[in-house]
This record gives sequence, structure tokens and C-alpha cells, in this order.
Amino acid sequence: MTTAAVIDGKAFAENLRARIAVAAAQFEVHAGRKAGLAVVLVGEDPASQVYVRSKGKQTVAAGMNSFEYKLDDNTSEGALLDVVERLNADPAVDGILVQLPLPSHIDEQKVIAAINPDKDVDGFHVVNSGRLSVGLPGFVPCTPLGCLMLLKDRLGSLSGLDAVVIGRSNIVGKPMAALLIAESCTVTVAHSRTKDLPEVVKRADIVVAAVGRAEMVKADWIKPGATVIDVGINRLPPEPGSDKGRLVGDVDYADVAKVAGAITPVPGGVGPMTIAVLLRNTLVAAHRNAGIVLDEAAL
Ligand code: NAP
Repeated sequence: MTTAAVIDGKAFAENLRARIAVAAAQFEVHAGRKAGLAVVLVGEDPASQVYVRSKGKQTVAAGMNSFEYKLDDNTSEGALLDVVERLNADPAVDGILVQLPLPSHIDEQKVIAAINPDKDVDGFHVVNSGRLSVGLPGFVPCTPLGCLMLLKDRLGSLSGLDAVVIGRSNIVGKPMAALLIAESCTVTVAHSRTKDLPEVVKRADIVVAAVGRAEMVKADWIKPGATVIDVGINRLPPEPGSDKGRLVGDVDYADVAKVAGAITPVPGGVGPMTIAVLLRNTLVAAHRNAGIVLDEAAL
């Protein structure tokens, strides 16, 4: 029985962050200032607080400025839009990220639409999704771009391969599909209404699972040798005697690893790529905003 190669996203992300740190130092010399990322957090969501702290720490470690804005749970939509406007106008801020989810009284789409697309390092603005779908330079959401980097590192050219993306969210599934189309894959996007999902997945040379259902993708869905990218982050119920359940992906890792050619683990696969790509996007934004040339493909 074969065992899949493990795609080490943690190591890849560390290397990417090291390349970013070198380029960030060069940017500082040329621009006379550091690149800057502003992160806005509204409310006290514990998971969001952890993400924001981690983003801030990694931004500073890469040699960029981190500006954090922590707003109350009951901040009005208008007040948040004012903060975004100020950041849009601030020349020290190259990238703006508003941590989602926002409290229910705030319209997320309205806030995303208020961000200057040239500072939208999350790639969620419709201008950037439009640029991605027509093949113009813009900003691509961090998680799918991280998945693509891992796939290209593993497979080289993706041209002509059959790819199945499970999930059609705006932040993962749809941009992932657009990126794979741009790499000349034949792409199928599956979702909760897809008929006979196991048969659809079985056609794939590349499977990207972005569903949010623990260990849903089974070994007998996978074409032998396929490359499997697991975006899902799910916490299982705690085992007796423990207060926290294990983190697992959307793929039944232990069994799928016996069939696939390569697979990302959870944790340690796609997860670490997301912040590393956010730093990459911020540095790209800084160069574009300052009119300094950067070999973006080499990052
Ligand atoms: P989402 O917005 O909830 O979208 C989930 C998608 O899965 C939807 O398109 C849904 O279909 C589809 N789906 C649900 N049940 C299904 C089923 N039984 N069969 C086939 N498709 C099904 O989630 P998301 O934001 O894309 O995130 C997906 C997962 O990735 C989550 O576990 C999330 O935590 C994780 N994630 C990880 C990172 C990272 O940094 N590693 C970043 C983002 C997200 P419908 O559209 O038909 O409802």
C-alpha cells in the first residue's frame, strides 16, 4: 500500500516568510519607510483575537509595520466605515484587513466595498474578484493563493489536470476555481447540491476540499495518486478526560493518505499559508502603491 507524500505547508510558509522579510528590508531602503498592514477587529470574538494577534506578530517579524484597531462590539457601521476611510487615505498603510465575521448589525459587504481595492490585501473586494476572473493583476484571497502555491510547488505545471474544488464560498472555493482555471486545469466546483459527490471527486487529479465538515472526503472517493489539499479546519468533540477536541480537516486523512499521491495535513498544511500570503499581498501592495518594481512571481 502506498502512502502519500505529506505537503508541509508549515515549512513552505516559513520559507515564504523568510523571502518576504528580505524583500521587505529592500522595500524599506528604496521607499524610505516600512510597508504597513492595518488590521481592524470589531468585538471580542476569541478566535478572531487569536488570528489578529498572530497576524500582528508575523507582520512585525517580517519587517513591516502592523497597525491594530480594536473597536467595541457595539461600534456602529458608520464609525467602522470612517476608520476604513482614514486607513484608505493614510500613506503609511499599504494593506487593510477587516477581520471577519463582523457583528450582525454591520453589513460586511458594505465594509469590504469601502476598502480601497489597491489596499484590499484580503482580495475580497468585488473589483479584485473581477480582476481575478478576467486575469488582471489584483489581490487574490490568501487561503486559495496559498493552496495554489503548494500545488505548483508539488506538481510544477498544472496544465490539463482535472481539478475538483469542493465548496463555492467567496473566500475559498470560487477564487480557488478561478486560480486553477488560470493554470489551465479542467475545473469542477462541487457544493452541497452536487449529485454523486464521490464519483465527481474520483475524476480529479487535484482535490481541494473547503467544506467545513470533519473528515467528509473518504479514501474511496480519491483517484490513486491524486494530490489532495485540505482547507477545512474542524474541531472534533473532546475525548473523555480531555477538555478540547482534536483539530481535523475535511478529509479523512489517515485513509486518504493510503490512496493519494500527496496530501496536506491538518494542522500544518494550508493553515500556516494563509497569514504568510497575507504578508506577501501586503508587500506587493506596498511596492505597487510606492511605484517600486517587485518580481512578484519570485516571492
Ligand atoms: P463556507 O462559506 O461555509 O462554505 C462551505 C462550502 O461547502 C459551501 O459552498 C457549501 O455548499 C459546501 N458544502 C457544505 N456541505 C457540503 C456537502 N455535504 N457536500 C458538498 N459540499 C458541501 O466555508 P468556507 O469559508 O469556504 O470554509 C471552508 C472550510 O475551510 C472551513 O472548515 C473553514 O474553517 C476552513 N478555512 C480554512 C482557512 C485556512 O486558513 N486554512 C481559511 C478559510 C477557511 P453550498 O454553497 O451549497 O452551501
